Formats: sequence, C-alpha cells, structure tokens
Amino acid sequence: TSDVHRITSGQVIIDLQSAVKELVENSLDANSTRIEITFKNYGIDSFEVTDNGNGISSRDFSNICLKHYTSKLIKFEDVSGVETFGFRGEAMSSLCSISKLKIKTATNEDYPKANLLEFDHFGNLINQSIVSGSKGTSVVVEELFKNLPVRQKNFIKNSKKEFQKVIHLLQSYCIICVGVRMMISNVNSKGKKQLILATKENNSMKQNIIDVFGNSMLNGLEQLNLPLNIEPSQTLNLKNHHNRNSFEVVVSGYISSCSFGQGRTSQDRQLVFINNRPVILPQLNKLINEVYKTFNHLEYPVFFINLIIAPDLIDINVTPDKRTILISHENSITFVFREELVSFFQSQNN
Ligand code: ADP
Ligand code: MG
Repeated sequence: TSDVHRITSGQVIIDLQSAVKELVENSLDANSTRIEITFKNYGIDSFEVTDNGNGISSRDFSNICLKHYTSKLIKFEDVSGVETFGFRGEAMSSLCSISKLKIKTATNEDYPKANLLEFDHFGNLINQSIVSGSKGTSVVVEELFKNLPVRQKNFIKNSKKEFQKVIHLLQSYCIICVGVRMMISNVNSKGKKQLILATKENNSMKQNIIDVFGNSMLNGLEQLNLPLNIEPSQTLNLKNHHNRNSFEVVVSGYISSCSFGQGRTSQDRQLVFINNRPVILPQLNKLINEVYKTFNHLEYPVFFINLIIAPDLIDINVTPDKRTILISHENSITFVFREELVSFFQSQNN
C-alpha cells in the first residue's frame, strides 16, 4: 500500500507548482497576513513556506500528515462551503510520501516557543522538539519527488521552466491576496538570495498589480465592477443544485486598454480568479479577448478578473489541483457577462 500511496500522491502533487500552491493555500486558510516563500536552487534542493498564521495546535501534531486528515471541516456549517475550497486533507500526507517534510509551528499560546516536527513517508510523526520561534507555521519540503525517479529527473531537467510556472501562479496569489504581505525569493547554488516578488500588507489590489508587474501597468488600467443579474433557464439547471430563480455574480478587477505587446507576454497577464482563488477558466479568457478585439485593434488586453459566485454553484474538485472549475448556469452567466462587457467598452469609447 505504500507504493499505491506514493503513486496517488504523485497525482495530488503533480509538480513544484502544485506543491507550493497547497502550502500557500494552507497558510491562507490559517489567516496569515504574512507569507514568505523561499526556494533553494529553484526548488530542486528545497522550498519553504513560512507564515504568521494560527499555527498548529499540539493535539493535531500526530494527525496533520495522515491521509484524509483535515482540521478544517468544523469551520463550515454546510457541505457546499467545504466544496468551495476542496478541503480534503491530502496535501500534507502526499508531500510526506514524495519528499522530506519538516514543520516548525507555534500557536499564540506556544510562542515564543515553537515545535519542530519531522514526519516519515507514511506521514507518521517521528521526531518532535522544542525550539524558539515566532507565531505561525513554516513548512520545509526537501528533495521533492526523491522516490519517484522519473518525475524527479524530469523536474531537475526542466527546473527553470518549472520555476517559471510556480512564479506565474504566485503572481496570481500576490495580486488577489489583499491584506497579505507576500515575499518570494530564491537562493541559488552559490548561496546568493534573490528577491523575486514582494507585496505589502496594506496594498490595494491595484498596488499589488504594480508591485508584481511594475509601474507600466498604470497606463490605461481600468477598474471593472460589474454586478451580473443572472436569470437561469430551467433546462440548464444541474441535477444536484438547488432550483434557483435569479442570482448575482459580481465581476470585478482591472483590465488594461493599452498595449503591452501581442501574444504570449500579454496573455501571461490575463489572470482569472473565482472567489479570490486563482483558477483556469479558458472560456472566460476567450470571451474577454473576443469582446475586446471588437472595440480595440489589439487582440490581448491585460486583465485581472475576480468572479464572486455562490459556493453551491461551482465545483472546484474536478482536478486534484482544484484549479479547473465547473460552473452551473455557465451559459447564462457568459451571456450576461458578454452583454455587460460590451456596454463597459462602449461607455469607455464615448
Ligand atoms: P487540508 O488543507 O485539506 O485540511 P492539508 O493536507 O493541506 O489538508 O493539511 C492538513 C492539516 O494540516 C490542515 O487541516 C491544518 O490543520 C494543518 N496545516 C497545514 N498547514 C498549515 C499552516 N500553514 N498553518 C496551520 N495549519 C496548517
Ligand atoms: Mg490544504
């Protein structure tokens, strides 16, 4: 069964990006306002996510890395809320089985003492000691994929590309996590630390965008705030969802009406969020690009778009990385969004 666990773990943590994503999500779930991510040798040697969140209480120490353990369900009144963030208790246990994992953690009561915890490949707590430290949690992952040789070889061979991928995702978190100070750096093989991304705790979303992509972003950056009133057609109702009359989806964020060059570079700056989490929603990118093109001679605007949707209308558990989303009444939502976007551009052009 340990082989099976290792293989299924390799499906939860498919690459460096998904590993880091899980740790950042855990830090956010713990109400952190400061998250520091440090890669050593682009993540090949190790990576570390340190937060100033709630910390882990000692009664959870022996459980947190066991399969399907989660401390989070109690915070939610209904199952639909749980669905939203896909709490499944798989990340820590998966990381244990394919790397060397250490945790340092302190709750408000523990501080200035902290607990250093080490786990084996099954997620069993094998070492525990008291050290000094500040409130919050630090998770260190060394030698990712060390017992999945093919995956590891591939990771090392493509390390620069894998690193770019994770930075791209972290740019999304930096922008959407208003109220959280993010700091991301890499320590190269010579021990030199390079700061890659940084935002401040009291930044607005706009300031986050500037901190991530630079001042040139200010040229032609327009704020978007469109409440969409959706009247779902009965036939589109999915089986499991409540029968709804009308409901609201709020689309907010920024879209740039100025050129940042065509093709890939600007498409890299088309970030989509649902309920403040970065997601992949190609339908939405396509829609915005299409509408944009009819009003401008440029094809790819830069945009940062957040959709607020009732949790019971989305299914985030389609893929293990929870980035692919199913939305019920998607056709109705798309229809209304297109109309609103057209009038937004129309009013801009006048
Ligand atoms: P899930 O997030 O689905 O609960 P994980 O495997 O990601 O499952 O994490 C397991 C548990 O470890 C969490 O429920 C939480 O109790 C604890 N945990 C992990 N990371 C942190 C953190 N940074 N701060 C506080 N608790 C954490
Ligand atoms: Mg988690």
